Amino acid sequence: MKPDAAGGGAFIPYGRHWIEDDDVAAVVNALRSGWLTTGPLVPRFEGAFARVTGADHAVALSSGTAGLHAAMHALGVGPGDEVIVPPITFVATANCAVFQGARPVFADVQPDTLLLDPEDLERKITRRTRAIIAVDYAGHPCDYDRLAEIARNRGVALVADACHALGARFRGRPVGSLAHLNVFSLHPVKAVTAGEGGVVTTDDPSMADRMRRFRNHGISLTARERDVRDTWIYEVAELGFNYRITDIQCALGLSQLGKLERWTERRRRIARRYDEAFRDLPQARPLTVRPWVQPAYHLYVLLLNPDALNTDRRDVFLRLRARGIGVNVHYIPVHLHPYYRERFGTGPGLCPVAEAAYERLLTLPLFPAMSDHDVDRVIDQVTDVLRECAR
Ligand SMILES: *Cc1c(COP(=O)(O)O)cnc(C)c1O
Repeated sequence: MKPDAAGGGAFIPYGRHWIEDDDVAAVVNALRSGWLTTGPLVPRFEGAFARVTGADHAVALSSGTAGLHAAMHALGVGPGDEVIVPPITFVATANCAVFQGARPVFADVQPDTLLLDPEDLERKITRRTRAIIAVDYAGHPCDYDRLAEIARNRGVALVADACHALGARFRGRPVGSLAHLNVFSLHPVKAVTAGEGGVVTTDDPSMADRMRRFRNHGISLTARERDVRDTWIYEVAELGFNYRITDIQCALGLSQLGKLERWTERRRRIARRYDEAFRDLPQARPLTVRPWVQPAYHLYVLLLNPDALNTDRRDVFLRLRARGIGVNVHYIPVHLHPYYRERFGTGPGLCPVAEAAYERLLTLPLFPAMSDHDVDRVIDQVTDVLRECAR
């Protein structure tokens, strides 16, 4: 991605972080504090994250992927178990089940939102199902009332892959307090960043404890806790990993978290401008937004209408790229990747709604540091290219 991406006539990427002077100062302070990795900023960041998401506990880790893995571990997912996931997601959503020796089972999505379809979900639940991972695709929260009811009735755990949805709300409640475990990413393209990083929120203190042990090799006390207690003794109670986050990252995460509300508002304003601009174009339509949610708009996704186009998505994509508009495609359905086909025998036909939608997806640039001029350019170029390609 070009570094001058947000500038005047330059390439506009689909997403981009925003680092300001106060973020830099926060990181410099952390570097001078005497702590580099697990120090006082980890619990401070976790406390701030729990407040923002309305959860009792937040556990910060080295990535969102580590968070998903820790969630699977905390739930006791293992060999012989099945974990239900949607195919329209980043591959880590399904990989985390595989890390634990479990089988990912793909349930299809709803055609208008591309969120997990509760009816197909019910059909895919078996006596082996241990967990459901719902994905708040593009930052639109899933219907957690419905999903929680299904999970409760069928005796399976509900995990939210909320990596797109920090700052979103469902019936007035913040994402992060809607599922048993809720996983977030702090990757630079996400709502706020720590360079790399992830957080899992939960109201369940025993889950939080298990995830904290898991991120530190399964060890009962951290190095800092041993120092404070003047002891060298620790116990490895179970197998874990080094999934720790650093104090340096948490300094950046804390500084960024303070901007979340403002930045989410900015994302929503840009999305409203896109909605208005593309409302009457027959060649494409935005994803549907349910009336009971306030999305975070991690992505702004258009669904192209092949009946109104004289060309295909690849051509529309390349024409926009040639005009400096950094469109992208989220995502290639996970069950179509060679690894999944070979290892789990998945392939075309398994999730027809997701597969058909994939052929029509186009992500437009959307990030808080975009200027109004950038937004105008995206609108003008997209409108122009879609008219050019009208059937
Ligand atoms: C970003 C993302 C992840 C992984 O997060 P990392 O911090 O990059 O490991 C998982 N799921 C979804 C839906 C994501 O967008």
